[in-house]
Amino acid sequence: MSTLPTLAIVIPCYNEEEVLPETVKRLGELYTRLVNTHKILGKSYIVFVDDGSQDATWEMISSYADTYPFIKGIKLSKNEGHQHALLAGMAYAHRTHTDCMVSLDADLQQDPDAVEVMVEKYREGYEVVLGIREDRESDSFFKKMTAEGYYTLMHFMGVDIEFNHADYRLMSYKALSFFLQFKERNLFIRGMIKLIGLKTTKVYFKTTERFAGESKYTLKKMLSFAWSGITSFSLFPLKLITITGFIIFLGSIVLSLDVLYTVYFTNEAVPGWASTVLPLYFIGGIQLLALGVIGEYIGKIYAETKGRPHYFIEEEVA
Ligand code: UDP
Ligand code: MG
Repeated sequence: MSTLPTLAIVIPCYNEEEVLPETVKRLGELYTRLVNTHKILGKSYIVFVDDGSQDATWEMISSYADTYPFIKGIKLSKNEGHQHALLAGMAYAHRTHTDCMVSLDADLQQDPDAVEVMVEKYREGYEVVLGIREDRESDSFFKKMTAEGYYTLMHFMGVDIEFNHADYRLMSYKALSFFLQFKERNLFIRGMIKLIGLKTTKVYFKTTERFAGESKYTLKKMLSFAWSGITSFSLFPLKLITITGFIIFLGSIVLSLDVLYTVYFTNEAVPGWASTVLPLYFIGGIQLLALGVIGEYIGKIYAETKGRPHYFIEEEVA
């Protein structure tokens, strides 16, 4: 066992005024327990990252930061999305030199008690501890099917991603230092974690329903996140074009043989039909598909070359 660590708990929040009081209460209890039982040092803290909320989230965070010495807040100037808010919190933890950092959602759907186990793993020498959900009972049938289908698809495309791991994880100072060297704009953090290597382990936790408010992941945000994961980590869509092209090429050879047969050995040939219509469908379709996918990648190159900042911190309170 190493000496007592300092811990930063990072909570991204987007329009979470309904859940914040309960979250602060539960996490405050957890914090106090961890400090009192000598699991973490008293310099540890909880930092709420307001991801450009339109409701009272930031006002609440500021007043909690005034009341409790262990609560801090960061306000992003506009809504950047969950992954970018998380990055802001991770960078903050790194900047303040905490020994380790745990990120989790504001709605406490992920059992906060797993934090204690994560810290124990850290003290055993692990640099990254991944939270893995035990069940998906609290999810709707739709969410369950799409999530599991997505993980399976990612594996099929050769992306190394942990099944049922979202963004509930512990990272050491060193892991954060490595992670923050990634300069990509299209963030899919759970995929990037694998790329940093280091000693990693898993901790299982239970999930519950969101206790207040609505999901802040709209279908649009969800789809864009899923698509980002694929195009940032897999070249399979490009390969698929080659494969499709090859199959269509073979198919057109077989078709041509059939057309030649009809022309020379039967009287059924309609002059010009096959040679006009077949290539029209095939080539038209495949060109559109190819252009679409290539366009996606060019879009990413475009975003990367611009090198825009991920976020602007408008204010900080401590
Ligand atoms: N979140 C965020 N920015 C966004 C959307 C969500 O910071 O644009 C936060 C949100 O406040 C929560 C976490 O990301 O702490 C996960 O969101 P949510 O619980 O709504 O997603 P779900 O559990 O439904 O997938
Ligand atoms: Mg949630």
